[in-house]
Amino acid sequence: MKRTFKSLLAAAGLAFIGLGSLLTATPAMAYTPKAPCVKYPSTPTASWPGNGHFFICTGIANDPLALISYTQANSVPANLKTKFNAQGTDVFVFQNVSNYNAYPDFEADVPASGAPVKGYSRSTQGAKHPGAVVAIFSIPSGNNFMARVTNHELGHGMDFATGNEGTTNGSVWSNRLAQDFADFDAPATGKPNFPGFTFVCNLFSTNTQRLLCMQQNNNPFKRDEMFAEEFATLMPKGAIFGEAGAVIGNYFRQLGALTPSRPRSRDRIVDLINQP
Ligand SMILES: [Zn+2]
Repeated sequence: MKRTFKSLLAAAGLAFIGLGSLLTATPAMAYTPKAPCVKYPSTPTASWPGNGHFFICTGIANDPLALISYTQANSVPANLKTKFNAQGTDVFVFQNVSNYNAYPDFEADVPASGAPVKGYSRSTQGAKHPGAVVAIFSIPSGNNFMARVTNHELGHGMDFATGNEGTTNGSVWSNRLAQDFADFDAPATGKPNFPGFTFVCNLFSTNTQRLLCMQQNNNPFKRDEMFAEEFATLMPKGAIFGEAGAVIGNYFRQLGALTPSRPRSRDRIVDLINQP
């Protein structure tokens, strides 16, 4: 019997859906790494990321810096582990951008320029990798820095796993961030004065401008970076020192009982993690 191209496509689509549900339910979704990446730990744990979703690609066996990333990834809330697992989110630790670019399954996906040198994550992948990717570079800048870079990159992965509110203008999170900025700029709020605030950033006229001056990639303002920074503040070891998402959180915390639920945008991240 002759099948039309359309019916072939439909059959292929059904097969794909069937396969997809199987993959979600079983470890069959596991990605098989290529050299120099090795799965960590070698004996899988019961839950994400140790169940086949964490890869050390630095060429160093049990690389201590990579293990710091593992500890952070393993510390995400249980609900988020479930979401990462369902989505097939894989965490890779490379030594640097060049090693990442040279990896066979990622080469086509990496922008020619613009990759931050401290940390980098991919939230979508091409045909060579089945799930979302969080890639971290093990720049030797101290253990706490490695942990905080990891938390930031996990924030991008969390954004992708929970509906991309951090990248979408007009999302619930984005609207709450606008409210936070309005609070931040209210005359009664006062000027932030934290150790993380640089002299140059303090020269701006509004608190939001001062805040965004602190943010990495702030020209232009990158909403998704703010999201990742706010996520990082929820994690053990927290965010990279001076990141805007951390600064705004600290500021509202310092106001204490007057504003117990601020920043509102960060509460939205907690809600997204906990949503079934
Ligand atoms: Zn980022």
